[in-house]
Amino acid sequence: EELYGVRRWGAGYFSIGDSGNIQIAPNHRLPDVTIDMKDVLDEIRAEGIQLPAVIRFHDILRSQVEILNETFARTIEEASYTGKYSGVFPIKVNQMREVVEEIIDAGEPYNYGLEAGSKPELMAVLAYNENPDALTVLNGYKDEDYLTLALLGRQLRRRMIIVIEKFSELEMLIPLAKKLGVQPLIGLRSKMMVRSSGKWAGSSGDRAKFGLSITEILNIIELLKKEDMLDCAKLLHFHIGSQMSDIRKVKEAVSEGARLYAKLIKEGVPLEYLDIGGGLGIDYDGTSSTTDSSRNYSTDEYVADVVYGVKQICDLEQVPHPNLVSESGRAITAHHSCVVTNIVGEIKNTGAQFDISASDGEHILVSNMRELVNSADMHPQERYNDAASYKQSAYEAFKLGILSLNEMAKLDTMYWRILVEIHSSLDRESFVFQELEELEDMLASQYLCNFSIFQSAADTWAIGQVLPIVPVSRLNEKPEVRCSIVDITCDSDGKLSKYIEGTEISDNIPMHTLHKNEDYYVGMFLTGAYQDVMGDMHNLFGRLTEVHIYCHDDEPGDFYIEEVVPGTSAEKVLETMQYNTDFMAKTVKKCIDREVRKGHIAPREGVRWTDYYEKCLAGSTYLKA
Ligand code: PLP
Repeated sequence: EELYGVRRWGAGYFSIGDSGNIQIAPNHRLPDVTIDMKDVLDEIRAEGIQLPAVIRFHDILRSQVEILNETFARTIEEASYTGKYSGVFPIKVNQMREVVEEIIDAGEPYNYGLEAGSKPELMAVLAYNENPDALTVLNGYKDEDYLTLALLGRQLRRRMIIVIEKFSELEMLIPLAKKLGVQPLIGLRSKMMVRSSGKWAGSSGDRAKFGLSITEILNIIELLKKEDMLDCAKLLHFHIGSQMSDIRKVKEAVSEGARLYAKLIKEGVPLEYLDIGGGLGIDYDGTSSTTDSSRNYSTDEYVADVVYGVKQICDLEQVPHPNLVSESGRAITAHHSCVVTNIVGEIKNTGAQFDISASDGEHILVSNMRELVNSADMHPQERYNDAASYKQSAYEAFKLGILSLNEMAKLDTMYWRILVEIHSSLDRESFVFQELEELEDMLASQYLCNFSIFQSAADTWAIGQVLPIVPVSRLNEKPEVRCSIVDITCDSDGKLSKYIEGTEISDNIPMHTLHKNEDYYVGMFLTGAYQDVMGDMHNLFGRLTEVHIYCHDDEPGDFYIEEVVPGTSAEKVLETMQYNTDFMAKTVKKCIDREVRKGHIAPREGVRWTDYYEKCLAGSTYLKA
């Protein structure tokens, strides 16, 4: 278990069973009730569903909504805090309808609301957040339509708060609201001085893209007073960046935000809510540290720091405790989905063999390399250096036309044989080998995985995010092949370059030897936030098939597939790129018919080719298992 760190990043949802399979405990109230991932996969295969697939554990999603809301409620009570918690889920983190519906349903007892950051997201939340007691927070840059739709929300008696990101938005809103006779609820987004750390540090500080400076906030208050609309100002908002890894930054932001809130109350602004934005991190790499893919705090600590931090400052300033809003997206959704796929092949530098026996008149470089093959007792570092130098010289000689193809194949075979021998003879404890990492990288196999990094794990490619990748079964066998995971896109960037190995982050990872005629499944976990929806169409692979899993309430440990959403077909992805697939099918048929008429293809065969092309258009974009 330690090898892949499952328990450490699993947050209580994932572990390894005695069977050697990944186990899932999706309901936080029943931590001992698990389902076996292999059983889930067997059922998926039995239904004829092709991999790769996104598997959504809806019970995990519900658990995360409950945990966040209940932690705030409990802490508020313990702290004798007089405000309430009114959280919202920012749908940009995962806009899938089924995800949003599940969150709304699980959050209903807590009046958990939604956040939108664009016009289409606003249209979605208008239709999906009907609870008049839940907040809808509207962030992002706005035009007249955005603001008008928000006012429609007010007409529908929703608690829809328009967060002003820049002064001109208010100048646009005031006449619009007056014209329509609708009183808006207004939020003010503050540009924070605290500098967060990590990949999203740019969300705060003077150069932040969003938010108002203190001067702008005061100007807005003046304008609202002048327009007799100060009553509309209800919320103060800040967001200093996603995936905050260091709790000290959270504390700093809370204290800056609470101080500003208190001062504004003292200026007579009738604020009721303090919105601390998102940022609650996820321990993707299981190190509980301040790496970019981890966090050095728990959800309990985060909530306590927010509640007690705001309380302390409001008590000092003698203003009432505000209702607290948070916009956690990553923490709500990351755990609930994973991508499961199969390894379709192995790319190995050391695999190809050529007869290395000596031949008359062979080049001296070939004989030198052969001598090295027979020098097992040579100092490993020296042997490695010589092999590398002969290989480089051979490459130069080949370019000059001095070495033949046969000689190159011999040199190559011998070179890899020497490297494998050096690697297996190394006693890591007592011998310092300078290029050990380089050697391990060179010898590592590449496991070809049936998925696209660009579609399913965009952040691993874009910002070096670590995501756990683990075989779904055989976890009670020692994995012996060091490898890296590459995807099926025709792009050398399409590979994972960071892996969790124990408590370290490695450049490659041990996996099991592949057996002939036996599928080897791997799961990429914690993909439910951003990764699920941010992927692009590189190589036209499109969205994966989705399988929605629910647990039976009355039969602990049992599960059922509630829905299967088919992945994007080849014709659908082509159509998004403006191809007319009817035209394509007709054109290919026309070409086949022409060859039939010329007698190159038999008529019956022609029909088969035509049908086959059409079947592939309607079929999956990923490799067939
Ligand atoms: N709110 C705002 C304004 C954001 O920009 C973001 C994301 O960066 C979030 C909420 C969600 O943050 P997280 O996913 O870290 O909870």
